Formats: sequence, structure tokens, C-alpha cells
Amino acid sequence: MVDLESNRQYMIRARQVINATGVWTDDTQTLANERGQFHVRSSKGIHLVVPRDRIRSSSGIILRTDKSVLFVIPWGRHWIIGTTDTDWSLDKAHPAASQRDIRYLLDQVNSVLRVPLTEADVEGVFAGLRPLLAGESADTSALSREHAVAHSVPGLVVIAGGKYTTYRVMARTRSTRPSTAWVRPSTAKSPSASPTTYHCSEPKASGRWNARTQLAAESGLNESRIARLLNRYGSMIGEVLALIRDDPSLGVPLPAADDYLRAEVVYGTTHEGALHLDDVLCRRTRISIETFDRGTESCSEVADLMAPVLGWSDEQKAREVAHYLARVAAERESQSMPDDETADGARLGAADIVPVG
Ligand SMILES: Cc1cc2nc3c(=O)[nH]c(=O)nc-3n(C[C@H](O)[C@H](O)[C@H](O)COP(=O)(O)OP(=O)(O)OC[C@H]3O[C@@H](n4cnc5c(N)ncnc54)[C@H](O)[C@@H]3O)c2cc1C
Repeated sequence: MVDLESNRQYMIRARQVINATGVWTDDTQTLANERGQFHVRSSKGIHLVVPRDRIRSSSGIILRTDKSVLFVIPWGRHWIIGTTDTDWSLDKAHPAASQRDIRYLLDQVNSVLRVPLTEADVEGVFAGLRPLLAGESADTSALSREHAVAHSVPGLVVIAGGKYTTYRVMARTRSTRPSTAWVRPSTAKSPSASPTTYHCSEPKASGRWNARTQLAAESGLNESRIARLLNRYGSMIGEVLALIRDDPSLGVPLPAADDYLRAEVVYGTTHEGALHLDDVLCRRTRISIETFDRGTESCSEVADLMAPVLGWSDEQKAREVAHYLARVAAERESQSMPDDETADGARLGAADIVPVG
């Protein structure tokens, strides 16, 4: 295994390995020198984010389209409009939304809106790839959303296809269950210890929710801010508030993304494993799709907050900021391109700060 952050190589030994690599399944099957059991096709889906006041509706909307359905979902101070479903055979790490994709969604949603949306209303755009088990159909929207499991070589299980909403079912699939062979001798001793039982700690935030007035009074934050933090962090809210207690300047909102407190950037870095600016701006928060500037106006301050935690030098900080700005510029350019090929070419104009694959 290669750690892409440090470029160091590690040898990892395991009795069993599960290959659950989504749209990369075809590539990773090849790595194991196995004859591919599955062929996974990538289907690109894009979403648009627009501010809540651009659509005057008190409920979400579901529309039937020629090929599929379109959702218009209320999401905080925004609407999410999606999605598309088209075959994608270009760069898997950076599926790019083209102008055609954006136009398609706007045309669909405008068919039911009194005041049509324009491209100027779009705050953010995001694209992803669905891993679909390949079948006979040329059309990705007609391919199965089911998953399948195979034991291609001894000690290696491949699971492919499926959906987020079926991940528990996928994990429970008999053939992907860990066997006693997975358990270290020290924990396998007791016959009553069930190696197939896992406990997920669901955040139990209801007590905290009832105490939000008190949390607001104790922290000096207003109640709606506490409600937002509870929705984001559940019972972990205490960890975020502790950061603010230790350093009250972290209780201040980010200047150009005031839905988020400075503490949330620090928390993303200290508790949620963020290593780079785009981890915080795109993945721990959603600033990259929730602001018209897509995070370019807050990225310097976010870098200032991450730098002491990660020990960045001024040079590293400047590199992170330059990389993020280049990424946003490349995404914007790709979204002005007419089709997938040109959008992919434009997106690849910004290299990853850590190379993928
Ligand atoms: C637009 C859109 C809408 C969707 N809507 C829904 C929905 O409404 N409901 C729903 O249930 N699902 C939905 N999905 C599908 C869902 O998002 C996917 O099915 C799910 O993300 C796939 O998860 P996965 O773990 O199989 O793959 P991924 O999340 O892609 O994970 C694969 C992982 O493998 C890693 N990897 C690749 N190669 C290697 C390697 N060589 N070594 C180590 N690691 C490697 C990758 O880094 C990645 O982290 C949607 C998808 C899209 C794109």
C-alpha cells in the first residue's frame, strides 16, 4: 500500500480483504491479478444548489422526466436540484459537470417554475459517479442499482454496485460477513463473543436538543446557531463548544461563509481528519457549494485556522490556497464547456494537491 500523503510504502498482511472500490472496481480487480468478476459502469449525476429565496415553495418537488425523476429538495438555506444520469468513461476522480448537464437541470425545473432559474442563480454544482453493475443496456438509467458479491480469489471478497441507502444490507450480505478467521486470537477466545456483532454509536442528541437554550446561554451563541450545530454534530456538539470555550475567537462566523463558525474549521482538522484545505471547504463543510464565491473568499482564513493545527509553514499555506483557487477555477471552466470531453479536459487543468491513484 502507498500512503499518498507521504509517498511511503507499507506492506499490510490480512487474512481477508474486501474490495469495495465503487467505480474503481474494474481497476482494482486487475490489481489482484484476477479475472474480472464484475464490470462496473460509471453513471454521472450532477446537482445544482440555489438559494432558498429563488424558488417560492414551501415543500420539495418531484418531477417525472423522460428518463428518470428530478428532485427539488429544500436543504438549509438552499435548494438542491438533481439529478442527471449519463454514462461517464473519463477521469473517475474528478467527474466534471458540463454546461449541457446544468442546462438540462435548469430546463427541467423551469418547466414547473413561474419565475425561471438562470445560470446566475446557481451557487454551487457538484458531480458524482454511481457504480452500476454493467448489464445489457446502453443507457445507464436502465441499469440495476442492486449489488453483487463474489469471492474471486481465496481471501478476497469483491462487492460492487448498490447504493448508500442499502449499505447496511450490503454489509450484512452473508458472504461479506467477517468470519472467526478475521478475529485476532486474543478476542476470539470466548465462544460467546460474536465476531459478527458490531456496535454503531448513533449520536443521541435528543437530550442536548432539549437543552439548547441552556447551551446557548453557556456558550454565548444564539439558539439558532446552537440548533444548527446540533444538526451537524449531534451529541458531539460539546467538543465544538469546548474549542470555543478555550478560545472565544473561534465562536465567530467565517467572514464569507457565515453559516459556519471558525471553530468548525478547527474541529474538522482536529477531530475529523481534514489534511488539506479542500477537505474542509468541500467535505467537512459544504462551503464550496453553498456560497456564490465557492469558498474562494474564505479559503485564506480557513488556511490560517488549519495551519497551526497541521504545522503548515507559510509556504505550505500559500500552496494550499493556490491549489484551492485553481481547483475552483477549473471547475468553473468545466461547467462552461459544452460536453463531457471538454468539461473533463478543463477540470483536469487543476492537479490534485495529493495525486490520486
Ligand atoms: C448523483 C448521485 C445520486 C445518488 N443518489 C443516491 C440516492 O439517492 N440514494 C442512494 O442510496 N445512493 C445514491 N447514490 C449512489 C451512492 O452515492 C453510491 O452508490 C455510493 O457512493 C457508492 O459507494 P461505494 O462505497 O461503493 O463507492 P465509493 O464511495 O466511490 O468508494 C470507493 C472507494 O474506493 C477507494 N479506492 C479506489 N481505488 C482504490 C485502491 N486501489 N486502493 C484503495 N482504495 C481505493 C476510493 O478512494 C473510494 O474511497 C447516488 C450517486 C450519485 C452520483
